Amino acid sequence: MSKALEQTKPRGAQVDRRSFLKAVGGGALALPWLACSGAKAPGGSVIVIGAGLSGITTALLLEERGIDVTVVEARDRVGGRVWTMDDVPGKPDAGGPVLGASYERLLKIAKALGAPIQPMKSFETSELVYVNGQSVIAADWASSAANKLQGGERQILPGLLVGYYTGQNLTLEDGYAWTAAKHADLDMPLDAFLRRQGASPEALRLMDVASNNNGLSTTSALWALREAQRRRDTKVRGMMESPGGNSRLPEKFAAAITGPIHKNSPVTKISSGQAGVEVACAGGAVYKADYCVITVPFSVLRGIAVDPPFEGAQKEAVEQVPYTAITQYFLLPKKPFWDEDRLPPMMWTDTPVERIFPQRDPDGRLMSLTCWIDGANAIRLDAMPEPDQIAFVLTELARIRPSTGGNLEVARIVSWAREPYSRGAYSNYLPGQVTRLKPVMAKPWHRLHFAGEHTAFTSPGMEGALESGERVTDELVARMSA
Ligand SMILES: Cc1cc2nc3c(=O)[nH]c(=O)nc-3n(C[C@H](O)[C@H](O)[C@H](O)COP(=O)(O)OP(=O)(O)OC[C@H]3O[C@@H](n4cnc5c(N)ncnc54)[C@H](O)[C@@H]3O)c2cc1C
Repeated sequence: MSKALEQTKPRGAQVDRRSFLKAVGGGALALPWLACSGAKAPGGSVIVIGAGLSGITTALLLEERGIDVTVVEARDRVGGRVWTMDDVPGKPDAGGPVLGASYERLLKIAKALGAPIQPMKSFETSELVYVNGQSVIAADWASSAANKLQGGERQILPGLLVGYYTGQNLTLEDGYAWTAAKHADLDMPLDAFLRRQGASPEALRLMDVASNNNGLSTTSALWALREAQRRRDTKVRGMMESPGGNSRLPEKFAAAITGPIHKNSPVTKISSGQAGVEVACAGGAVYKADYCVITVPFSVLRGIAVDPPFEGAQKEAVEQVPYTAITQYFLLPKKPFWDEDRLPPMMWTDTPVERIFPQRDPDGRLMSLTCWIDGANAIRLDAMPEPDQIAFVLTELARIRPSTGGNLEVARIVSWAREPYSRGAYSNYLPGQVTRLKPVMAKPWHRLHFAGEHTAFTSPGMEGALESGERVTDELVARMSA
């Protein structure tokens, strides 16, 4: 079966592809940075749904293995949840801001394609902690009257408490262990686990504020323990950045794909038949191929018609795995309020505005700030009209930090839970779901295969997206070669 449409590729893309091949070893059979075997498939075609990092990587790897690829993308841009706010001063990243220096796959493919990545410059020397109605500099936290924590936890900044408790007596052996049946007893509510680890009521309250999930009681402890395992076992430390924003990475990767990338093409129906797959888009276009790789988050897939419909635990996963709600307010300072009150611009608070991250230019000048809110607070704000959200955020900030009053304006709001092609920032799991659902989430369904951050095992975030691309490529090449 052949692809529905042919495409032309600009010359720059061919140059990118040549340098990619050279850098990875000169040809399709030499991919030293991949876990896959490198064997070529005997031809065939695949539709990849989604041009996020996982979709783009899958397309690149499949092409390397001799497979025709068509990418279908709903948005007018590639990158998905990697999204630089190019119109906000300082170009903050709304999605995927932190590249770990341990992201081996990402760093190698970026190098191969000539996408620059450099160690992240950190200009923040301190943080303002606003807890129990008082402002405290991070260095003074342990001895502050605002600190109502108990015993050893008093030394730990609120934002580091989850890591402190999940890192103690960690029993997960390796990157796969969090999904192993032998650890099913840890597939319990995260708050109950943290309590068992010795967390005080105040520590539990603070950990529930900006937890990167939708709430400690509705999140599996295994979700957090996976992070702890990775932190423990990661040899390479540090953070990297892509100059000009992380969106430059998927843009560069996508330019090396030979097959077409159909943007502005939201998929509405995916059918898997005896002889191949059909993918129908909102605009009426229908694409056909031998197989399909679905990379869209399950939070989005649950709104796409799939034939034959999913069954059993996989159906439950598609319909029910939760995604973290995150809403961000990109703020422009009218004047340097941090000079006025002589406090650090970076903030961690136990209020509904949660966290503030400064965005600086390469010389360290503060260009904008991101108010980053997750979980229940984000869901509450998402339900309000935008002018009310803005008024709430600015009023709350002025209350806890008077120098911001009248000195901030909101340049942009991004609600990941409301983004129609994300429906949340990243997958997390209800208690019990890791053991029951994780092992079947990426299982091929007829001619449909799966990639995406939610299908990765050992790596989180962006690196997980690439891990999933590697795995699905191996899976398809083996199937197409059989
Ligand atoms: C706020 C936030 C903070 C994050 N922080 C970090 C971080 O610091 N470090 C880190 O490593 N990771 C971070 N992540 C996670 C990281 O961005 C993702 O794990 C990764 O980018 C996911 O890639 P993906 O390809 O799996 O999914 P996506 O990027 O979501 O790709 C899926 C693609 O499918 C497309 N799509 C959706 N629906 C359809 C449809 N109907 N038809 C066609 N196409 C469709 C989407 O537009 C998208 O391009 C963060 C994410 C968010 C949102």
